[in-house]
Amino acid sequence: MVGGGIGGLATGLALGKAGHRVTIVERDDTPMPASPDEAFAWDRRGAPQVRHSHAFLARLRNLLVQHHPDVHRELLDIGAFEMRFGENLPPEMEGFEPEPDDAELVMIAARRTTFEWVLRRHVTATGVASVHTGRAVIALTGSSARATGVLLDDGTELGADLVVLASGRRADVQAWISGIDGRPVAEEVEDTGIVYLSRFYRLRRGRDRPPRGGLIGGDLGYLKYGVFVGDNDTFSITLAVPTDDRELRRRLTGPGAFEAAGRQLAAAADWLDGRAEPLDDRVHAMAGLLNRWCDLVVDGEPVAVGVVGVGDAVLCTNPLYGRGCTTAFWSAQLLADSVADHAPDPRAIAVDHAHRMTAQIRPWYTASVRQDAEARRVAAAILAGEDPDGDTSDSRTLVRAVFRDGLRPATRTDPVVLRAFVRNLNLLSPPDALTADTDVVARVLSVYEQRAQRPPEPVLGPASRDELVGALT
Ligand SMILES: Cc1cc2nc3c(=O)[nH]c(=O)nc-3n(C[C@H](O)[C@H](O)[C@H](O)COP(=O)(O)OP(=O)(O)OC[C@H]3O[C@@H](n4cnc5c(N)ncnc54)[C@H](O)[C@@H]3O)c2cc1C
Repeated sequence: MVGGGIGGLATGLALGKAGHRVTIVERDDTPMPASPDEAFAWDRRGAPQVRHSHAFLARLRNLLVQHHPDVHRELLDIGAFEMRFGENLPPEMEGFEPEPDDAELVMIAARRTTFEWVLRRHVTATGVASVHTGRAVIALTGSSARATGVLLDDGTELGADLVVLASGRRADVQAWISGIDGRPVAEEVEDTGIVYLSRFYRLRRGRDRPPRGGLIGGDLGYLKYGVFVGDNDTFSITLAVPTDDRELRRRLTGPGAFEAAGRQLAAAADWLDGRAEPLDDRVHAMAGLLNRWCDLVVDGEPVAVGVVGVGDAVLCTNPLYGRGCTTAFWSAQLLADSVADHAPDPRAIAVDHAHRMTAQIRPWYTASVRQDAEARRVAAAILAGEDPDGDTSDSRTLVRAVFRDGLRPATRTDPVVLRAFVRNLNLLSPPDALTADTDVVARVLSVYEQRAQRPPEPVLGPASRDELVGALT
């Protein structure tokens, strides 16, 4: 495995348990810290997103329960916890009855550093794979489009039957494949259009989280935000600012302005009422957030035999949707399935893995790209002083209105709509499941049609960007 983040560790876990001899090479020189709190201070410059908010979706939790129940148990023992559908319903919800499938609608609350720390600790302690830190892979070895292993930065060559690229979002897959005379990979890249700003907190002794069940975030058009619950009484707040709004981004990077903004945001304000203190003195910022899809099998043939990819090295989606660790884990499990069915044939493994990835995970990439294009359009209109909903002949305006005045209120009052929405959010139904379900569509439209007969939607934050900026001074 090139890389010991979520994808590398998940693949190591799955293949190691299946009896394969796995070596994970991780560039960051990160000796194992003793506790989750020490892991939060980890020097993980190879994966700087670790100090940003992370949601761990139900599909990921279910993969853990199904394939690695010991890791799931260790996560809970160390202070992560589960958030079950039905436990914290919106106060307006009536007529909710649990259904058998709800048992799989469970998310995990943890800091990303805690999640990765538990995974690494488990992999190392069980010896299911060997982990080498502080060593970088600098190239594939091999020739004539056939990988035979990797070359490390200290000159060591490691032979391998299969090299798994799990080197994250900055991986230059093409350069490595070209280095062994492979064919061009098929890569698509789309900007998400946002910059992430995150701050982490811990509840003061004796203080509780605000009641859950209400809002956990919002989209104001000029800013998106969310509150993420973590392990051991921690939580984080993330503000996502359009890439082009340099001024807002610059202002919100200061801890004082960040918190002043947070107190203006309906879902975040209660968390910042003095019940918690920051875990460090920084607002963590991360730009360069891309949607990315990279095919290592083109026209039915691997671009190079003996190399496959998992996680961000081959598929990234907008972090706001919280899917990356889930798709990294999912792609690792798909690889384990391909290896189980086709080892020792590296060509057949690659072709089968590509087929599974395209069928099961690619639809989520496509959905992210589509959703981001619309969000960028809205943000650009606001920044240019235009009304993004001004053109009523544009079908996108109607879609936004139905989302705002139909779907959103329906998720607060109608258990059928909420369940379908949460299943979708957790990657347990296909991206188009909501619009394909005629019952859900009818319920949403009926709520939309009654929009004039009910009070306006709850305010998520300042109505305009200027109002928010005014509150920062
Ligand atoms: C701001 C932000 C917020 C996010 N929020 C969420 C969220 O809420 N929920 C969610 O599920 N996902 C989220 N994600 C996505 C998630 O973090 C990634 O999808 C996930 O980390 C992918 O795992 P990975 O193993 O592919 O990559 P990484 O975890 O990034 O690991 C790649 C590893 O490879 C190592 N490496 C790189 N090159 C080499 C080399 N040449 N040799 C050896 N090692 C190398 C790096 O040091 C790194 O440790 C977020 C991402 C970002 C950027």
